[in-house]
Amino acid sequence: MTDAMIRIEDLHKQFGDLRVLNGVDADIRKGEVISIIGPSGCGKSTMLRCLNLLEQPTSGRIVIEGEEITAPGADAPRIRQRMNMVFQSFNLFDHLTVLENLTIGPLQLLGKSESEARKKALELLHTVGLAERANHLPSELSGGQKQRVAIARCVAMDPDVILLDEPTSALDPTMVSEVLAVIRNLARQGLTMLMVTHEMEFARDASSRIFFMHEGRIHEQGPPDQVFDHPQSPLTRAFIQRVRSHVVSIDSPDVDIFAIHGGLEGFCEKHLITRDVALRLDLATEELIALLLPGLESLKQFELRAEYSETDRSLVLSVNLPASFDNPLDGTDIESELNRQVLAQAGGEIDVVRRETSYDIQVTIRQQPSAQQA
Ligand code: ADP
Ligand code: MG
Repeated sequence: MTDAMIRIEDLHKQFGDLRVLNGVDADIRKGEVISIIGPSGCGKSTMLRCLNLLEQPTSGRIVIEGEEITAPGADAPRIRQRMNMVFQSFNLFDHLTVLENLTIGPLQLLGKSESEARKKALELLHTVGLAERANHLPSELSGGQKQRVAIARCVAMDPDVILLDEPTSALDPTMVSEVLAVIRNLARQGLTMLMVTHEMEFARDASSRIFFMHEGRIHEQGPPDQVFDHPQSPLTRAFIQRVRSHVVSIDSPDVDIFAIHGGLEGFCEKHLITRDVALRLDLATEELIALLLPGLESLKQFELRAEYSETDRSLVLSVNLPASFDNPLDGTDIESELNRQVLAQAGGEIDVVRRETSYDIQVTIRQQPSAQQA
């Protein structure tokens, strides 16, 4: 006998030849709040999607309160209502008002009356702080507000379990905390939740347990204090450390470059980053600051963030900029070309990751396999 509300047994999922889940086992009790962390591509989303049958598992069993949902002929729409999901990209109905977004499911799928659905929807909007937006269209809301509506809509379906897949990763940094506050509030009300997140501080204080996933398995799990402060496995430790990052904030044209170098050096020493990588991080940081300083007047301030991964010994230097700010790397003039070259020399890969109303410039600095260059 077990008091598990959800039991996952030896769950496997393959896409063609790609083995994404390689035997996930877990027991989740009612009222637990589980944060799933792990490197990108390790199967976190696929696991959540298998739980509500958006993906059909290749093998294994998922049992929810005694009902095996992986059995042939399972009622997928009903299971999706019981295990309702909040997506990264909100997925609101754009042509419906906020209130209608919340009532359409209960009216059409749960057979609730108009007044009942409306009453509950208004209550929920109140809970997420958006009661006065009931008659607005989603297009009139900010990203953070849209995601709060999406969470309320999810709860409106009376699910047994709420699944959240990186609910804040498409949001601008300024809107993350309002959404996390709403999720924390739901967690306190005793809802059972499974959430994929990169917000480590949040995962630590809002969850009852952490699952660290690696290559399609739950590699380590336990209470937040144990997983974050005393991880058993070197892989978990490396992942947790990577998330500890070093931030350089610039809010004045009088940049103290010596203080910045000193801070970076301390960070590199603490994480045993090789001298070669540390020097290139210094160079890339200096170059990015030089690129962004002319825009400081309009930006007011900017932050460079260095994150180190022990697993592949790469260091990522990134900066988040508003969409209205022209990407200083985009220019076609000679100066932009030179900027790109210097950054590429320091790093190797330069990526631009677009979000809703902002974008990240990311410079990946890898440890070179050998000192010899082609
Ligand atoms: P995570 O959420 O941990 O970043 P995912 O579960 O989204 O990882 O993906 C794990 C792996 O499965 C990735 O390599 C991804 O490309 C692959 N994958 C995910 N969904 C599909 C799909 N529908 N078809 C083929 N490959 C997929
Ligand atoms: Mg994912």
